[in-house]
Amino acid sequence: MDFELSEKAIDFRSQVKKFIENNLTSEIISNMHKTGTFNDKSFNEALASEGLLAGAVPGYGDRDPVELYLLFNELEKAGAPYDGLAVTMLVAGIINAVGTEFHHEEILKKLLTGKHNCCLGYSEPDYGSDVASITTKAEKVGDKWIINGQKMWTTMAHESDWVLLLTRTNSEVPKHKGMTMFMVPMATPGIEIQPVPTMASERTNATFYDNVEVEDQWRLGEVDDGWSVMGIALALERGVMGGTNPAVPLLKHVLNWAETTPSKNESLMINNTLMRERIARTAIINQVGQLLTLRAAWIAATGGMPGVEGSMAKIYASEEYQKVVGWFQQMAGAEGLLSFGAEDAAASGWIDYDARHAPVTTIYGGTSEINRNNIAERHLGLPRSR
Ligand SMILES: Cc1cc2nc3c(=O)[nH]c(=O)nc-3n(C[C@H](O)[C@H](O)[C@H](O)COP(=O)(O)OP(=O)(O)OC[C@H]3O[C@@H](n4cnc5c(N)ncnc54)[C@H](O)[C@@H]3O)c2cc1C
Repeated sequence: MDFELSEKAIDFRSQVKKFIENNLTSEIISNMHKTGTFNDKSFNEALASEGLLAGAVPGYGDRDPVELYLLFNELEKAGAPYDGLAVTMLVAGIINAVGTEFHHEEILKKLLTGKHNCCLGYSEPDYGSDVASITTKAEKVGDKWIINGQKMWTTMAHESDWVLLLTRTNSEVPKHKGMTMFMVPMATPGIEIQPVPTMASERTNATFYDNVEVEDQWRLGEVDDGWSVMGIALALERGVMGGTNPAVPLLKHVLNWAETTPSKNESLMINNTLMRERIARTAIINQVGQLLTLRAAWIAATGGMPGVEGSMAKIYASEEYQKVVGWFQQMAGAEGLLSFGAEDAAASGWIDYDARHAPVTTIYGGTSEINRNNIAERHLGLPRSR
């Protein structure tokens, strides 16, 4: 593959960087950590008004997944609130690929204003990795669909206007063939949202659907073909949509801390040989993560489906993130366990935050084990695990 970016992509990246310099404030960052909601609608709107959202939807105009990758890679490296926006842009990409004219008018156009968000309703209390076994049911009654069931981990449901909802519509066929996807407006009567706090400080939610009635126009893709829509979502999500450079902001905070904090022998932490080695290794890991992600984005941009490459980028980035933050927590000692706001917190609390956040990144978007299965089966040709 060619790692050089096109002129168009280089120009887009510099627009995003300039936007971040001018608009990302420390208040925005601290607010997301205080509330646990990694989404800032004013920031999203400002991005939209510069054309940077419309400029990153794959297949929209002359845009391809490289711009999508660049947008989220820069936001992630800067530590900006991007989780809500990432899901919203993922849904924008799916609608652009398989949506009807109604979906384009009613949803996509609104998403690109930055004022609206979407959430993903795939996982259920009993089915996360084995998502094809979901039981939330959509039944056609006359010309309407009636939805009943429960979803778990519906992150951003409390900020969203629509949920991309995976439902069971046929139990008589093999499980992959009996699901249908909907874009359900969150304001529909019968939807209840309950907050679920996490160790990562991010808020997620449990969502309940009790006789939720939607018209057929909110169906996305064909009846019983929800699995194909999931395929598009997963190809865009893994690798391309951020989550593959989380140790970049960590390294920035650690460097700042090591350069200003004395160690026990009163020399600065940065002069400790082990510290220097770990900082250098982290910089290399970050670079490898970036190249693996760029490969996934490039494959998507040239018409391929980076299913396996996205899994590789995701496992590498999330597991290395967990490893390196463990190194720095060890170097920091007890202060590495103190959170934001505590007087002696190492790196102002960032080491503690990243140590709690890193394990969660190995779970959402598909666990490390599931991604390893994917590589084993689809790349190495090993027997299927289930
Ligand atoms: C903070 C957070 C946010 C999330 N946000 C969303 C969201 O917005 N929308 C959404 O739909 N979901 C979301 N998820 C759900 C996430 O995708 C699931 O948690 C994940 O897919 C794992 O599913 P599970 O939790 O049911 O665990 P399980 O599937 O029950 O897995 C338990 C353990 O068994 C392992 N395992 C399972 N099957 C296999 C296998 N075949 N081979 C080897 N090992 C296996 C897993 O790797 C894991 O270690 C979120 C999760 C978290 C933690």
